[in-house]
Amino acid sequence: MPLEEQNRSNVDVFKRERYHASEQWYHTDGDPFSPQTNYAVGGNTKIYGAVLLRMRERDFEAVNHQEGISPAWGLNYQDFEPYYTEAEQLYQVHGNTATDPTEPPHSADYPYEPIAHDPQIQIVADTLAQQGLHPVNLPLGLTRQEDDPTSDSEVCGLVPALKHANVTLKTSAKVICLHTNPSGRVVKAVEAEIGGQSYLFLGDIVVLACGAINTAALLLRSPNEKHPNGLGNSSDLVGRHLMKQSLTAVVQLGSTPNSGKFLKTIGVNDFYWGDENFPYPMGHIQNTGGLLQDIIFAESPPVLSMFAKLMPGFGLKQMATHSIGWWAQTETLPDPKNRVRVDGNKLYLDYKPNNVEAHDRLIYRWMEVLKDVEKTIEQSVFQRSGLHPRGEMPIQVVAHQCGTCRFGEDPQTSVLDLNCRAHDLDNLYVVDSSFFPSSASVSPALTVIANALRVGDHLIERLK
Ligand SMILES: Cc1cc2nc3c(=O)[nH]c(=O)nc-3n(C[C@H](O)[C@H](O)[C@H](O)COP(=O)(O)OP(=O)(O)OC[C@H]3O[C@@H](n4cnc5c(N)ncnc54)[C@H](O)[C@@H]3O)c2cc1C
Repeated sequence: MPLEEQNRSNVDVFKRERYHASEQWYHTDGDPFSPQTNYAVGGNTKIYGAVLLRMRERDFEAVNHQEGISPAWGLNYQDFEPYYTEAEQLYQVHGNTATDPTEPPHSADYPYEPIAHDPQIQIVADTLAQQGLHPVNLPLGLTRQEDDPTSDSEVCGLVPALKHANVTLKTSAKVICLHTNPSGRVVKAVEAEIGGQSYLFLGDIVVLACGAINTAALLLRSPNEKHPNGLGNSSDLVGRHLMKQSLTAVVQLGSTPNSGKFLKTIGVNDFYWGDENFPYPMGHIQNTGGLLQDIIFAESPPVLSMFAKLMPGFGLKQMATHSIGWWAQTETLPDPKNRVRVDGNKLYLDYKPNNVEAHDRLIYRWMEVLKDVEKTIEQSVFQRSGLHPRGEMPIQVVAHQCGTCRFGEDPQTSVLDLNCRAHDLDNLYVVDSSFFPSSASVSPALTVIANALRVGDHLIERLK
Protein backbone atom coordinates (compact mmCIF):
# COMPACT_ATOMS: atom_id res chain seq x y z
CA MET A 1 0.00 0.00 0.00
CA PRO A 2 1.50 3.34 -0.90
CA LEU A 3 2.46 5.44 2.09
CA GLU A 4 0.11 8.40 2.12
CA GLU A 5 -1.04 11.04 4.52
CA GLN A 6 -4.54 9.60 4.08
CA ASN A 7 -3.64 6.25 5.65
CA ARG A 8 -3.57 7.90 9.01
CA SER A 9 -6.41 10.30 8.43
CA ASN A 10 -9.67 9.25 9.96
CA VAL A 11 -11.44 11.28 7.30
CA ASP A 12 -10.16 9.08 4.52
CA VAL A 13 -10.20 5.82 6.39
CA PHE A 14 -13.76 6.18 7.53
CA LYS A 15 -15.64 8.85 5.69
CA ARG A 16 -14.44 8.41 2.16
CA GLU A 17 -14.17 4.67 2.67
CA ARG A 18 -10.79 4.97 0.97
CA TYR A 19 -9.52 1.73 2.41
CA HIS A 20 -12.70 -0.26 2.45
CA ALA A 21 -12.26 -3.34 0.27
CA SER A 22 -13.69 -2.92 -3.21
CA GLU A 23 -15.69 -6.12 -2.90
CA GLN A 24 -19.11 -6.39 -1.32
CA TRP A 25 -20.23 -8.59 1.52
CA TYR A 26 -23.85 -9.24 2.45
CA HIS A 27 -25.86 -8.95 5.62
CA THR A 28 -28.24 -11.80 6.56
CA ASP A 29 -31.13 -10.15 4.74
CA GLY A 30 -29.08 -9.93 1.54
CA ASP A 31 -28.28 -6.21 1.81
CA PRO A 32 -24.81 -5.61 0.36
CA PHE A 33 -22.20 -3.50 2.13
CA SER A 34 -18.63 -2.45 1.58
CA PRO A 35 -16.58 -3.92 4.45
CA GLN A 36 -14.17 -1.71 6.33
CA THR A 37 -11.17 -3.92 5.83
CA ASN A 38 -7.84 -3.19 4.21
CA TYR A 39 -6.24 -5.61 1.75
CA ALA A 40 -2.54 -4.79 1.67
CA VAL A 41 0.82 -5.91 3.01
CA GLY A 42 0.39 -5.26 6.74
CA GLY A 43 -3.39 -5.69 6.57
CA ASN A 44 -5.51 -3.52 8.83
CA THR A 45 -2.52 -2.42 10.87
CA LYS A 46 -1.75 -0.07 7.93
CA ILE A 47 -4.77 1.99 8.98
CA TYR A 48 -5.25 1.09 12.65
CA GLY A 49 -5.09 3.31 15.73
CA ALA A 50 -2.05 1.42 17.12
CA VAL A 51 -3.51 1.27 20.64
CA LEU A 52 -1.78 -1.90 21.83
CA LEU A 53 -3.46 -3.06 25.03
CA ARG A 54 -3.01 -6.35 26.86
CA MET A 55 -6.14 -8.28 27.73
CA ARG A 56 -6.90 -8.18 31.45
CA GLU A 57 -6.05 -11.30 33.49
CA ARG A 58 -9.72 -12.16 34.04
CA ASP A 59 -10.40 -11.89 30.31
CA PHE A 60 -8.68 -15.29 29.98
CA GLU A 61 -11.10 -16.84 32.49
CA ALA A 62 -14.80 -17.58 32.24
CA VAL A 63 -16.59 -14.31 33.14
CA ASN A 64 -20.26 -13.78 33.87
CA HIS A 65 -21.77 -11.04 31.74
CA GLN A 66 -25.30 -9.78 32.00
CA GLU A 67 -26.33 -11.72 28.88
CA GLY A 68 -24.25 -14.86 29.38
CA ILE A 69 -20.79 -16.27 29.87
CA SER A 70 -17.63 -15.17 28.17
CA PRO A 71 -15.78 -18.49 27.95
CA ALA A 72 -12.34 -19.28 29.37
CA TRP A 73 -9.43 -19.35 26.92
CA GLY A 74 -7.83 -22.70 27.82
CA LEU A 75 -4.61 -20.80 28.44
CA ASN A 76 -4.16 -18.10 31.04
CA TYR A 77 -2.64 -14.66 31.11
CA GLN A 78 0.71 -16.00 32.29
CA ASP A 79 0.95 -18.13 29.13
CA PHE A 80 0.66 -14.97 27.06
CA GLU A 81 2.65 -12.60 29.27
CA PRO A 82 6.15 -13.23 27.81
CA TYR A 83 4.73 -12.82 24.32
CA TYR A 84 2.95 -9.59 25.21
CA THR A 85 6.31 -8.28 26.40
CA GLU A 86 7.99 -9.41 23.18
CA ALA A 87 5.20 -7.91 21.08
CA GLU A 88 5.53 -4.57 22.90
CA GLN A 89 9.25 -4.52 22.12
CA LEU A 90 8.70 -5.45 18.49
CA TYR A 91 5.99 -2.82 17.96
CA GLN A 92 7.85 -0.15 19.98
CA VAL A 93 5.03 0.51 22.40
CA HIS A 94 5.02 3.83 24.26
CA GLY A 95 2.83 3.80 27.33
CA ASN A 96 2.22 3.98 31.05
CA THR A 97 -0.65 2.00 32.48
CA ALA A 98 0.74 1.61 36.00
CA THR A 99 -2.11 3.55 37.63
CA ASP A 100 -4.81 1.27 36.17
CA PRO A 101 -6.01 -1.25 38.76
CA THR A 102 -7.24 -3.57 35.97
CA GLU A 103 -3.83 -3.69 34.24
CA PRO A 104 -2.30 -7.16 34.49
CA PRO A 105 1.27 -7.60 35.78
CA HIS A 106 4.05 -6.91 33.26
CA SER A 107 7.42 -8.68 33.46
CA ALA A 108 9.01 -5.62 31.81
CA ASP A 109 8.14 -1.95 31.49
CA TYR A 110 6.94 -0.58 28.17
CA PRO A 111 10.03 -0.06 26.03
CA TYR A 112 9.28 3.65 25.54
CA GLU A 113 7.97 6.51 27.66
CA PRO A 114 4.32 7.37 27.10
CA ILE A 115 3.25 10.02 24.63
CA ALA A 116 2.24 13.13 26.58
CA HIS A 117 -1.39 14.17 26.48
CA ASP A 118 -2.30 17.27 24.51
CA PRO A 119 -2.50 20.09 27.14
CA GLN A 120 -6.28 20.20 26.93
CA ILE A 121 -6.53 16.44 27.24
CA GLN A 122 -4.16 16.61 30.22
CA ILE A 123 -6.66 18.89 31.97
CA VAL A 124 -9.38 16.32 31.34
CA ALA A 125 -7.09 13.52 32.61
CA ASP A 126 -6.34 15.47 35.80
CA THR A 127 -10.02 16.09 36.36
CA LEU A 128 -10.85 12.41 35.85
CA ALA A 129 -8.16 11.53 38.42
CA GLN A 130 -9.66 14.06 40.87
CA GLN A 131 -12.97 12.24 40.48
CA GLY A 132 -11.21 9.07 41.66
CA LEU A 133 -10.90 7.48 38.20
CA HIS A 134 -7.65 6.04 36.86
CA PRO A 135 -6.92 7.43 33.39
CA VAL A 136 -3.80 5.99 31.75
CA ASN A 137 -1.49 7.01 28.94
CA LEU A 138 -2.70 4.58 26.30
CA PRO A 139 -0.01 2.18 25.06
CA LEU A 140 0.67 3.20 21.45
CA GLY A 141 2.84 1.40 18.87
CA LEU A 142 4.93 4.14 17.31
CA THR A 143 8.10 4.08 15.25
CA ARG A 144 7.98 7.90 15.39
CA GLN A 145 9.62 8.04 11.97
CA GLU A 146 8.52 11.10 10.09
CA ASP A 147 7.38 9.25 6.99
CA ASP A 148 5.52 6.45 8.79
CA PRO A 149 5.10 7.12 12.51
CA THR A 150 2.87 4.15 13.39
CA SER A 151 4.17 0.64 14.11
CA ASP A 152 2.41 -1.67 11.68
CA SER A 153 2.87 -5.29 10.71
CA GLU A 154 4.70 -4.47 7.50
CA VAL A 155 7.31 -2.29 9.20
CA CYS A 156 7.64 -4.29 12.43
CA GLY A 157 6.98 -7.81 11.15
CA LEU A 158 7.47 -8.34 7.45
CA VAL A 159 10.37 -6.03 6.64
CA PRO A 160 12.62 -7.70 9.26
CA ALA A 161 11.43 -11.16 8.13
CA LEU A 162 12.29 -10.37 4.51
CA LYS A 163 15.96 -10.00 5.47
CA HIS A 164 16.07 -13.81 5.66
CA ALA A 165 16.97 -15.52 2.42
CA ASN A 166 14.24 -18.14 2.83
CA VAL A 167 11.37 -15.62 3.00
CA THR A 168 9.51 -14.58 -0.16
CA LEU A 169 6.62 -12.14 -0.26
CA LYS A 170 4.09 -12.42 -3.08
CA THR A 171 1.94 -9.32 -3.37
CA SER A 172 -1.46 -9.01 -5.06
CA ALA A 173 -1.94 -12.72 -4.53
CA LYS A 174 -5.43 -13.80 -3.53
CA VAL A 175 -5.67 -17.26 -2.00
CA ILE A 176 -8.72 -18.98 -3.43
CA CYS A 177 -8.68 -22.35 -1.70
CA LEU A 178 -6.56 -24.97 0.04
CA HIS A 179 -6.07 -28.54 -1.23
CA THR A 180 -5.38 -31.59 0.94
CA ASN A 181 -3.76 -34.97 0.33
CA PRO A 182 -6.13 -37.92 -0.33
CA SER A 183 -6.45 -38.80 3.37
CA GLY A 184 -7.54 -35.20 4.06
CA ARG A 185 -5.10 -34.88 6.99
CA VAL A 186 -2.49 -32.69 5.32
CA VAL A 187 -2.80 -29.44 3.36
CA LYS A 188 -0.71 -30.05 0.27
CA ALA A 189 -1.23 -26.90 -1.75
CA VAL A 190 -2.40 -23.33 -1.48
CA GLU A 191 -4.14 -22.13 -4.63
CA ALA A 192 -3.72 -18.43 -5.34
CA GLU A 193 -4.69 -16.07 -8.12
CA ILE A 194 -2.01 -13.63 -9.22
CA GLY A 195 -2.64 -11.31 -12.13
CA GLY A 196 -5.56 -13.41 -13.34
CA GLN A 197 -3.53 -16.65 -13.30
CA SER A 198 -3.83 -19.55 -10.92
CA TYR A 199 -0.77 -20.79 -9.00
CA LEU A 200 -0.26 -23.63 -6.54
CA PHE A 201 2.13 -23.10 -3.63
CA LEU A 202 3.36 -26.18 -1.80
CA GLY A 203 4.59 -26.30 1.77
CA ASP A 204 5.10 -28.60 4.75
CA ILE A 205 3.28 -26.22 7.07
CA VAL A 206 0.57 -23.76 6.08
CA VAL A 207 -0.30 -20.78 8.29
CA LEU A 208 -3.44 -18.71 7.63
CA ALA A 209 -3.72 -15.08 8.72
CA CYS A 210 -6.39 -13.56 6.46
CA GLY A 211 -8.28 -11.86 9.31
CA ALA A 212 -11.07 -13.64 11.18
CA ILE A 213 -13.71 -13.20 8.49
CA ASN A 214 -11.63 -14.08 5.44
CA THR A 215 -9.86 -17.01 7.11
CA ALA A 216 -13.25 -18.57 7.89
CA ALA A 217 -14.47 -17.82 4.35
CA LEU A 218 -11.36 -19.44 2.85
CA LEU A 219 -11.83 -22.61 4.89
CA LEU A 220 -15.53 -22.75 4.02
CA ARG A 221 -14.57 -22.35 0.35
CA SER A 222 -12.15 -25.30 0.50
CA PRO A 223 -14.41 -28.33 0.99
CA ASN A 224 -13.47 -31.74 -0.38
CA GLU A 225 -14.58 -35.33 0.05
CA LYS A 226 -12.94 -35.63 3.47
CA HIS A 227 -14.05 -32.17 4.56
CA PRO A 228 -17.55 -31.82 3.10
CA ASN A 229 -18.52 -28.82 5.28
CA GLY A 230 -15.35 -26.88 4.61
CA LEU A 231 -11.77 -27.53 5.53
CA GLY A 232 -11.13 -28.25 9.20
CA ASN A 233 -14.84 -27.92 9.91
CA SER A 234 -15.81 -31.29 11.45
CA SER A 235 -17.03 -29.30 14.47
CA ASP A 236 -19.29 -27.13 12.25
CA LEU A 237 -17.78 -24.17 14.09
CA VAL A 238 -15.74 -22.57 11.29
CA GLY A 239 -17.19 -19.10 10.79
CA ARG A 240 -19.38 -19.26 13.89
CA HIS A 241 -19.02 -17.20 17.08
CA LEU A 242 -18.11 -14.12 15.07
CA MET A 243 -17.57 -11.26 17.49
CA LYS A 244 -16.92 -7.59 16.81
CA GLN A 245 -17.03 -5.60 20.02
CA SER A 246 -19.78 -2.99 20.33
CA LEU A 247 -18.18 0.35 19.54
CA THR A 248 -19.85 3.69 20.07
CA ALA A 249 -18.43 7.13 19.59
CA VAL A 250 -19.51 9.85 22.01
CA VAL A 251 -18.81 13.49 21.29
CA GLN A 252 -18.27 15.92 24.12
CA LEU A 253 -19.27 19.31 22.78
CA GLY A 254 -18.12 22.54 24.33
CA SER A 255 -18.53 26.18 23.45
CA THR A 256 -14.83 27.07 23.86
CA PRO A 257 -12.68 26.30 20.81
CA ASN A 258 -9.75 23.86 20.98
CA SER A 259 -7.17 22.62 18.46
CA GLY A 260 -9.51 19.86 17.24
CA LYS A 261 -6.55 17.55 16.68
CA PHE A 262 -6.00 15.52 19.81
CA LEU A 263 -3.84 12.45 19.80
CA LYS A 264 -5.45 9.28 21.05
CA THR A 265 -3.78 9.17 24.46
CA ILE A 266 -6.26 8.56 27.32
CA GLY A 267 -7.65 5.19 28.30
CA VAL A 268 -10.05 4.51 31.18
CA ASN A 269 -10.87 1.04 32.50
CA ASP A 270 -12.65 1.97 35.72
CA PHE A 271 -15.92 0.48 34.44
CA TYR A 272 -14.29 -2.49 32.72
CA TRP A 273 -15.73 -4.95 35.22
CA GLY A 274 -18.87 -2.94 36.01
CA ASP A 275 -19.82 -0.30 38.55
CA GLU A 276 -21.81 -0.01 41.77
CA ASN A 277 -25.11 -0.22 39.86
CA PHE A 278 -24.22 -2.97 37.41
CA PRO A 279 -22.22 -5.98 38.59
CA TYR A 280 -21.24 -7.10 35.08
CA PRO A 281 -18.44 -6.06 32.74
CA MET A 282 -19.11 -2.82 30.87
CA GLY A 283 -15.94 -2.13 28.91
CA HIS A 284 -13.17 0.22 27.92
CA ILE A 285 -13.07 3.95 27.13
CA GLN A 286 -10.46 5.82 25.10
CA ASN A 287 -10.38 9.20 23.43
CA THR A 288 -10.53 9.06 19.68
CA GLY A 289 -7.80 11.36 18.49
CA GLY A 290 -7.82 12.76 14.97
CA LEU A 291 -10.86 14.32 13.43
CA LEU A 292 -13.36 12.10 15.09
CA GLN A 293 -16.28 14.09 13.86
CA ASP A 294 -15.83 12.86 10.34
CA ILE A 295 -15.97 9.31 11.50
CA ILE A 296 -19.15 9.84 13.38
CA PHE A 297 -20.86 11.62 10.56
CA ALA A 298 -19.79 8.99 8.09
CA GLU A 299 -20.79 6.04 10.19
CA SER A 300 -23.80 7.40 11.91
CA PRO A 301 -25.95 9.83 9.96
CA PRO A 302 -28.43 10.11 12.89
CA VAL A 303 -25.72 11.88 14.89
CA LEU A 304 -25.25 14.38 12.10
CA SER A 305 -28.94 15.21 11.94
CA MET A 306 -29.16 15.39 15.74
CA PHE A 307 -26.22 17.76 15.75
CA ALA A 308 -27.69 19.91 12.98
CA LYS A 309 -30.88 20.31 15.05
CA LEU A 310 -29.10 21.09 18.29
CA MET A 311 -26.55 23.53 16.93
CA PRO A 312 -27.87 24.95 13.69
CA GLY A 313 -25.29 26.76 11.60
CA PHE A 314 -22.36 24.79 13.03
CA GLY A 315 -20.18 23.28 10.31
CA LEU A 316 -17.96 20.22 10.53
CA LYS A 317 -14.88 22.31 11.17
CA GLN A 318 -16.50 24.18 14.04
CA MET A 319 -17.66 20.90 15.43
CA ALA A 320 -14.09 19.58 15.18
CA THR A 321 -12.74 22.49 17.16
CA HIS A 322 -15.38 22.41 19.86
CA SER A 323 -15.31 18.81 20.90
CA ILE A 324 -13.43 15.84 22.26
CA GLY A 325 -14.39 12.43 20.95
CA TRP A 326 -14.49 9.22 22.96
CA TRP A 327 -14.84 5.57 22.01
CA ALA A 328 -16.73 3.21 24.25
CA GLN A 329 -16.01 -0.44 23.48
CA THR A 330 -17.72 -3.44 25.04
CA GLU A 331 -17.19 -7.16 24.73
CA THR A 332 -19.77 -9.05 22.72
CA LEU A 333 -20.45 -12.69 23.50
CA PRO A 334 -19.79 -15.66 21.21
CA ASP A 335 -23.09 -16.72 19.68
CA PRO A 336 -22.99 -19.62 17.20
CA LYS A 337 -25.69 -17.88 15.17
CA ASN A 338 -23.41 -14.88 14.59
CA ARG A 339 -21.36 -16.21 11.75
CA VAL A 340 -19.52 -15.92 8.46
CA ARG A 341 -21.37 -17.83 5.76
CA VAL A 342 -20.49 -18.33 2.10
CA ASP A 343 -22.86 -19.02 -0.75
CA GLY A 344 -21.08 -19.29 -4.08
CA ASN A 345 -19.00 -16.18 -4.41
CA LYS A 346 -21.01 -14.30 -1.83
CA LEU A 347 -19.80 -13.78 1.73
CA TYR A 348 -22.56 -13.25 4.30
CA LEU A 349 -22.28 -11.95 7.84
CA ASP A 350 -25.17 -13.12 10.00
CA TYR A 351 -24.71 -10.82 12.92
CA LYS A 352 -26.88 -9.53 15.72
CA PRO A 353 -25.17 -7.45 18.42
CA ASN A 354 -25.50 -8.83 21.94
CA ASN A 355 -24.59 -7.77 25.48
CA VAL A 356 -26.20 -4.51 24.50
CA GLU A 357 -27.30 -3.30 27.94
CA ALA A 358 -23.71 -3.53 29.23
CA HIS A 359 -22.63 -1.30 26.36
CA ASP A 360 -25.46 1.18 26.92
CA ARG A 361 -24.61 1.34 30.60
CA LEU A 362 -20.99 2.13 29.73
CA ILE A 363 -22.05 4.94 27.42
CA TYR A 364 -24.46 6.50 29.88
CA ARG A 365 -21.99 6.12 32.74
CA TRP A 366 -19.35 7.82 30.63
CA MET A 367 -21.70 10.65 29.75
CA GLU A 368 -22.29 11.17 33.50
CA VAL A 369 -18.54 11.31 34.03
CA LEU A 370 -18.20 13.88 31.24
CA LYS A 371 -20.87 16.07 32.79
CA ASP A 372 -18.86 16.15 36.02
CA VAL A 373 -15.67 16.85 34.08
CA GLU A 374 -17.33 19.74 32.32
CA LYS A 375 -18.68 21.16 35.58
CA THR A 376 -15.24 21.05 37.15
CA ILE A 377 -13.33 22.60 34.26
CA GLU A 378 -16.09 24.80 32.96
CA GLN A 379 -14.05 27.95 32.84
CA SER A 380 -10.88 26.47 31.45
CA VAL A 381 -11.63 24.23 28.50
CA PHE A 382 -15.25 23.26 28.20
CA GLN A 383 -18.34 25.15 28.99
CA ARG A 384 -21.00 22.71 29.77
CA SER A 385 -23.20 22.27 26.78
CA GLY A 386 -25.05 19.19 27.91
CA LEU A 387 -24.70 17.76 24.40
CA HIS A 388 -23.28 14.32 23.89
CA PRO A 389 -24.22 13.01 20.47
CA ARG A 390 -23.35 9.37 19.98
CA GLY A 391 -23.01 7.07 17.01
CA GLU A 392 -22.97 3.29 16.97
CA MET A 393 -20.92 1.43 14.41
CA PRO A 394 -22.86 -0.43 11.71
CA ILE A 395 -22.29 -3.93 10.28
CA GLN A 396 -19.50 -2.89 7.87
CA VAL A 397 -17.27 -1.82 10.74
CA VAL A 398 -15.49 -5.11 11.32
CA ALA A 399 -12.29 -3.61 12.76
CA HIS A 400 -12.32 -5.79 15.88
CA GLN A 401 -13.56 -9.01 14.24
CA CYS A 402 -12.58 -12.26 15.95
CA GLY A 403 -13.70 -15.71 17.08
CA THR A 404 -14.50 -17.57 13.84
CA CYS A 405 -12.07 -20.49 14.45
CA ARG A 406 -11.93 -20.59 18.24
CA PHE A 407 -9.10 -22.53 19.88
CA GLY A 408 -9.49 -25.10 22.67
CA GLU A 409 -8.69 -28.62 23.73
CA ASP A 410 -11.87 -30.33 22.57
CA PRO A 411 -12.27 -30.91 18.79
CA GLN A 412 -16.05 -30.98 19.27
CA THR A 413 -16.19 -27.47 20.68
CA SER A 414 -13.25 -25.77 18.96
CA VAL A 415 -11.67 -25.55 15.49
CA LEU A 416 -8.04 -25.14 16.55
CA ASP A 417 -5.98 -26.76 19.27
CA LEU A 418 -4.18 -24.63 21.85
CA ASN A 419 -1.21 -24.24 19.46
CA CYS A 420 -3.67 -22.86 16.89
CA ARG A 421 -3.35 -25.96 14.68
CA ALA A 422 -6.60 -27.13 13.08
CA HIS A 423 -7.78 -30.22 15.00
CA ASP A 424 -8.67 -31.89 11.71
CA LEU A 425 -5.34 -31.31 9.96
CA ASP A 426 -1.73 -32.06 10.80
CA ASN A 427 -0.11 -29.01 9.22
CA LEU A 428 -2.62 -26.15 9.11
CA TYR A 429 -2.31 -23.24 11.58
CA VAL A 430 -4.38 -20.06 11.99
CA VAL A 431 -2.78 -17.05 13.69
CA ASP A 432 -5.15 -14.14 13.12
CA SER A 433 -7.92 -13.12 15.52
CA SER A 434 -10.04 -16.12 14.46
CA PHE A 435 -8.70 -18.10 17.43
CA PHE A 436 -10.20 -15.83 20.14
CA PRO A 437 -12.81 -17.73 22.24
CA SER A 438 -13.99 -14.36 23.60
CA SER A 439 -13.49 -10.81 22.41
CA ALA A 440 -12.68 -9.00 25.68
CA SER A 441 -13.29 -5.23 25.61
CA VAL A 442 -9.75 -4.05 24.89
CA SER A 443 -8.58 -3.66 21.28
CA PRO A 444 -7.37 -6.97 19.83
CA ALA A 445 -4.15 -6.35 17.87
CA LEU A 446 -1.55 -6.84 20.64
CA THR A 447 -3.12 -10.19 21.51
CA VAL A 448 -3.06 -11.22 17.82
CA ILE A 449 0.63 -10.25 17.62
CA ALA A 450 1.53 -11.95 20.92
CA ASN A 451 -0.26 -15.12 19.89
CA ALA A 452 1.52 -15.21 16.52
CA LEU A 453 4.84 -15.03 18.40
CA ARG A 454 3.67 -17.83 20.70
CA VAL A 455 2.67 -20.06 17.78
CA GLY A 456 5.99 -19.16 16.13
CA ASP A 457 7.82 -20.63 19.13
CA HIS A 458 5.73 -23.78 18.83
CA LEU A 459 6.60 -24.06 15.13
CA ILE A 460 10.32 -23.66 15.88
CA GLU A 461 10.02 -26.60 18.31
CA ARG A 462 8.01 -28.61 15.81
CA LEU A 463 10.53 -28.09 13.04
CA LYS A 464 13.53 -29.06 15.16
C1 LIG B 1 -9.62 1.58 11.28
C2 LIG B 1 -9.13 0.53 12.23
C3 LIG B 1 -8.56 0.92 13.44
C4 LIG B 1 -8.08 -0.06 14.32
N1 LIG B 1 -7.46 0.33 15.47
C5 LIG B 1 -6.95 -0.59 16.31
C6 LIG B 1 -6.24 -0.22 17.47
O1 LIG B 1 -6.00 0.96 17.72
N2 LIG B 1 -5.79 -1.20 18.30
C7 LIG B 1 -5.99 -2.52 18.03
O2 LIG B 1 -5.58 -3.36 18.83
N3 LIG B 1 -6.65 -2.91 16.93
C8 LIG B 1 -7.11 -1.98 16.06
N4 LIG B 1 -7.74 -2.38 14.91
C9 LIG B 1 -7.85 -3.83 14.67
C10 LIG B 1 -6.55 -4.39 14.11
O3 LIG B 1 -6.18 -3.69 12.94
C11 LIG B 1 -6.76 -5.87 13.83
O4 LIG B 1 -7.06 -6.52 15.06
C12 LIG B 1 -5.54 -6.56 13.26
O5 LIG B 1 -5.08 -5.92 12.09
C13 LIG B 1 -5.90 -8.01 12.97
O6 LIG B 1 -4.83 -8.65 12.37
P1 LIG B 1 -5.08 -9.92 11.48
O7 LIG B 1 -3.74 -10.45 11.13
O8 LIG B 1 -6.04 -10.81 12.19
O9 LIG B 1 -5.85 -9.43 10.17
P2 LIG B 1 -5.63 -8.26 9.12
O10 LIG B 1 -4.85 -7.13 9.68
O11 LIG B 1 -6.98 -7.99 8.56
O12 LIG B 1 -4.72 -8.92 7.97
C14 LIG B 1 -5.22 -9.87 7.08
C15 LIG B 1 -4.34 -9.91 5.85
O13 LIG B 1 -4.74 -11.02 5.03
C16 LIG B 1 -4.88 -10.60 3.68
N5 LIG B 1 -5.87 -11.49 3.06
C17 LIG B 1 -7.19 -11.64 3.38
N6 LIG B 1 -7.75 -12.58 2.61
C18 LIG B 1 -6.78 -13.05 1.80
C19 LIG B 1 -6.75 -14.05 0.77
N7 LIG B 1 -7.83 -14.77 0.45
N8 LIG B 1 -5.57 -14.26 0.13
C20 LIG B 1 -4.46 -13.55 0.44
N9 LIG B 1 -4.43 -12.60 1.41
C21 LIG B 1 -5.58 -12.37 2.09
C22 LIG B 1 -5.29 -9.15 3.76
O14 LIG B 1 -4.94 -8.46 2.57
C23 LIG B 1 -4.46 -8.67 4.96
O15 LIG B 1 -3.18 -8.29 4.55
C24 LIG B 1 -8.21 -1.44 14.01
C25 LIG B 1 -8.78 -1.82 12.78
C26 LIG B 1 -9.23 -0.85 11.90
C27 LIG B 1 -9.83 -1.28 10.59
